[in-house]
Amino acid sequence: MHASDIEGDLTEVLVTEDEIRARLDELAARIEADYAGEDLLLVGVLRGAVMVMADLARSMRGHLEMDWMAVSSYGTSTQSSGVVRILKDLDTDIQGRHVLIVEDIIDSGLTLSWLRGNLESRGTASVEICALFRKPDAAKVEVDVRYVGFDIPNKFIVGYGLDYAERYRNLRDVAILAPHVYS
Ligand code: IMP
Ligand code: MG
Repeated sequence: MHASDIEGDLTEVLVTEDEIRARLDELAARIEADYAGEDLLLVGVLRGAVMVMADLARSMRGHLEMDWMAVSSYGTSTQSSGVVRILKDLDTDIQGRHVLIVEDIIDSGLTLSWLRGNLESRGTASVEICALFRKPDAAKVEVDVRYVGFDIPNKFIVGYGLDYAERYRNLRDVAILAPHVYS
C-alpha cells in the first residue's frame, strides 16, 4: 500500500521507499567491504526486519547466509517493556561465525542489547548490528550499532515492515502514525 491509500492514519511520510533503497545500497556496499573474504550470516529479527533483510541482502553482490529469530518485547503497545523472550530461535549453529543482526529499528535499545549478548554467548567470531532506523532520543541503553540507515525523531513510525498492532507493515514508505490511531 502507498501512503496515499491511508492518508488519514498518517501525520507525514518520513522516508520514501526510494530513499530507503538508496540508503540500503550504501550500507550493503560498506558491509561487503568490511566482511570481504569472510563468511557472513545475516540474522533478521522477525517480523519487522523482513523488508530490510529482503532489500539489503539483494543489494549485496557476494554470497551470504540468512537466518531468522523472533523475539518479543512489545505486545501491541507503543512502549518498550524491556522484557525480551525468544519466540523462534536460529536454525544455524553460530559458533565461530561472523553474525550481522538485521533490525528494523532501535528504539530504547533494550531488545538489541539483549540479543547481541545472547548471540555472543554462543561463541560467535563477531556480532554486529545493522538497523534501518534509530531513535537517538529514546535510548535507554547504549548499543554500538555499526550500520544505521536513518536517525529519526522520537515518534512512532510505521511502514516498510514496521507495524502498529500488526498493521501497516505493507506500507511502502515509512510514515509517522497519527496519534488518533493509538490513543
Ligand atoms: P527497543 O527494545 O525499544 O529498541 O524496541 C525495538 C523494537 O520495538 C523494534 O524491533 C520494533 O519492533 C519496535 N518498535 C520500536 N519503535 C517502533 C516504532 O516507532 N514503530 C514500530 N515499531 C517500533
Ligand atoms: Mg521488531
